[in-house]
Amino acid sequence: MKYDVIIIGAGAAGLFCAITAGKRGRKVLVLEHNAQIGRKILISGGGRCNFTNREVKAENFISRNSHFCKSALARYSSNDFVELIKKHRIEFYEKKLGQLFCVESARQIVEMLLTECRKARVEIRTECSVNSVGKNEAFEVETNQGKFTCQSIVVATGGLSFPKIGATDFGYRIAKQFGLKIVETRASLVALASAKSAQNFKKLAGVSVDANVSCGKHSFRENILFTHRGLSGPAVLQISNYWQTGKIVSIDLSPAADVLTLLQKNRESKQNLDNFLSRILPNRFAEIYTAENLPNKPINQLSNKDIETIAGKLNEWRVEFGDTEGYDKAEVTLGGVSTDELSSQTMAAKKVENLYFIGEVVDVTGWLGGYNFQWAWSSGFAAGQAV
Ligand SMILES: Cc1cc2nc3c(=O)[nH]c(=O)nc-3n(C[C@H](O)[C@H](O)[C@H](O)COP(=O)(O)OP(=O)(O)OC[C@H]3O[C@@H](n4cnc5c(N)ncnc54)[C@H](O)[C@@H]3O)c2cc1C
Repeated sequence: MKYDVIIIGAGAAGLFCAITAGKRGRKVLVLEHNAQIGRKILISGGGRCNFTNREVKAENFISRNSHFCKSALARYSSNDFVELIKKHRIEFYEKKLGQLFCVESARQIVEMLLTECRKARVEIRTECSVNSVGKNEAFEVETNQGKFTCQSIVVATGGLSFPKIGATDFGYRIAKQFGLKIVETRASLVALASAKSAQNFKKLAGVSVDANVSCGKHSFRENILFTHRGLSGPAVLQISNYWQTGKIVSIDLSPAADVLTLLQKNRESKQNLDNFLSRILPNRFAEIYTAENLPNKPINQLSNKDIETIAGKLNEWRVEFGDTEGYDKAEVTLGGVSTDELSSQTMAAKKVENLYFIGEVVDVTGWLGGYNFQWAWSSGFAAGQAV
């Protein structure tokens, strides 16, 4: 069976590429090894899919080449995707920071993509495992459902996160097979775990605090959530994109108040430190964090040194994490097929004619907040226009 285009992977990027190419009259086949398409879309955004962000800039992405994503994002923007959502009468809302979610369900996004695929006469085969991809005049794709040939092949197999719903390293293997470089991959948008002080974290598990979390020159102000093994919550997931073993994470647990000034102003107070701190921190957190980490005495009995230590541990709590919670829990994979190998206009491999890589398998990773889906739509569109 001969096709113009075969797309491997029926996730966000693969389906969007198929729609774009199909609308141009290309004969398109999408191969998906799961029984169901778009499984990651279905579980995304807590089941409501944060499908894009109102403001998408190159600064919201991590890649060895920070300029690579610009062309695709400009040609198919978040506004374009919002127009499509409106056309399908899917109700959406802005949760915070420009993040757009479905009011009802992420299923509506998958249904919209399916409807568009039908209109564009895209053929989708599920439960179809690709065994090998070869290239002579055309590409030859061997699967458990037979052999298919095509002029162009698009690899849209995503990253390594959430293997339980179908993530594989297939895309990276194909890239290596054709001699393309891979930027080392690691789990990201993921909780951080601290082997050293796990005991302290356990006691605070479930507590959420507004914080400013920094690593190197990057900072995010949002909530952090204490877990049994370390920290999670939006600010920590964001910083995980920039964290590596050995890098210190600095956390301002009281970003709205300078604790040193506050304590100095209240030098004569007879209030115990934990009670005093519950003015600026959640009660339970103030109580446990003080008992575990700080001298819990009346303020007027604290030495100047104590006050400095307390301020440091609250406005600049330095944590050395040992690891992340790994691919099983990570929302995305950092790294991937090197952008040096691809055209930023079309996503085509520079040294292999008619071979394309799109979506998360490429070394472009977005922040938390709808950016990863926008990259899937935009890179899928760029390749869909070219194949
Ligand atoms: C829990 C969770 C929540 C998330 N929430 C959001 C969110 O709200 N907003 C956001 O922007 N991003 C979110 N993300 C990230 C986002 O889902 C991904 O970045 C995005 O889905 C990547 O799209 P993709 O098409 O490149 O890859 P995927 O969506 O992973 O699709 C790849 C497809 O290829 C298939 N496949 C893999 N190997 C093979 C093979 N060998 N043969 C055939 N098929 C194969 C897979 O089964 C899959 O269907 C979330 C991720 C997770 C895990």
